[in-house]
Amino acid sequence: MEAKIGSTLIRLVQGDITREKTDVIVNAANPSLRGGGGVDGAIHRAGGPEILQECIDKYPKGCGTGEARITTAGQMDAKWVIHTPGPIWRGGQQNEEGLLRNSYHNSLLLATKHGAKSIAFPSISTGVYGFPIDQAAKIAISTVIENLNEISMKEIHFVQFSASDCQVYTRTLTQILKDTQEES
Ligand code: ADP
Repeated sequence: MEAKIGSTLIRLVQGDITREKTDVIVNAANPSLRGGGGVDGAIHRAGGPEILQECIDKYPKGCGTGEARITTAGQMDAKWVIHTPGPIWRGGQQNEEGLLRNSYHNSLLLATKHGAKSIAFPSISTGVYGFPIDQAAKIAISTVIENLNEISMKEIHFVQFSASDCQVYTRTLTQILKDTQEES
């Protein structure tokens, strides 16, 4: 599914994020920035060891939850990887929603600062970190749409590994577009 909002194209994609040709690929990292499983492992495997080396050299203290750090993308087509640790879901009482929002917002700001025109997000926190997919999809899409004016992106991709997650994103984007139309 695709939707044009202002001059920005939002595209929902099912597949492997490491194959995206956007300027930036976002990594659902963990705070150590020393690699891990899931999408983090896939990005380090596809990009090669220089990404990990850059994380070690530039970010010895890692990265706080909801913050974002940038490296090059090694062997991948993208120019940069933005690493952001999303929150671990602990039932929703520990500002997990706010922290997840921060991950998307800070990634967009950092990408803009580097002049990126396109960015691909995975579904941050909804794998091993256990964030419910419906809530996470709503936060991901609404955070992006709310910040379109202060960022420079021409294309924003949401890449889901599984067909069922992609369906959730499709349903969520459709609903958000409908709600915005009704408001205006
Ligand atoms: P987190 O620790 O933030 O929950 P995970 O990597 O465990 O991160 O999962 C985040 C999401 O990324 C999950 O929906 C998972 O299916 C998905 N994922 C895993 N590998 C890839 C990949 N290569 N491309 C896109 N999404 C992926």
